Amino acid sequence: MKQMEEKILREGQVLPGDILKVGSFLNQNIDTEFLGQMAQEFARLYEGAGVTKVLTIEASGIAIAAAVGMEMGVPVLFAKKHRTSNVDGSTYSAKVHSFTHNEDYNVVVSSSYLTSDDRVLLVDDFLANGQALNGLINLCEQAGAEVVGIAIAIEKCFTGAGDRMRADGLRIESLAMIESMTDSEIVFRS
Ligand code: 5GP
Repeated sequence: MKQMEEKILREGQVLPGDILKVGSFLNQNIDTEFLGQMAQEFARLYEGAGVTKVLTIEASGIAIAAAVGMEMGVPVLFAKKHRTSNVDGSTYSAKVHSFTHNEDYNVVVSSSYLTSDDRVLLVDDFLANGQALNGLINLCEQAGAEVVGIAIAIEKCFTGAGDRMRADGLRIESLAMIESMTDSEIVFRS
């Protein structure tokens, strides 16, 4: 999506540790008109895929997922982040390692909200090492739900995680794909 690349070039800031800051339009101060365009693009890409539910992870995925769910006319579920895992049977839980914060946490959804009838579109703001997505995929496996695709605003291709997941057979659509980034240059996959 050309507009996403242009937004990143205009407003993104590359921080130490390979972190791209997009707080001015996506992660803190949300450009709602642009969010609507993103959602339309994801809905176009996944038209006909039979998506019944959008699943994301709190907090930064929620706005994007909500916009996509509204555009596609399906419910939006977000996994909560917990420090400890709850094993009382009423929830599905998976451990995730965050490289950005260098800590482990559990992603948790209520088992009543994710079922084997669901065809799930996973949505997130960034795909870096794939840990967050793998946690969400794990939750879907526990529920017997089918992951029909993944919708990502910004993929950091240089980690290789997205391409490994594609090689495993997952469909991933990313609106911007970053091959390399420094504080003076961001190069997109063409
Ligand atoms: P992964 O689990 O794929 O390594 O990382 C994905 C999660 O980490 C996303 O949910 C996102 O919130 C966060 N993240 C990863 N890289 C970046 C980045 O460069 N910038 C921002 N703002 N968040 C990131």
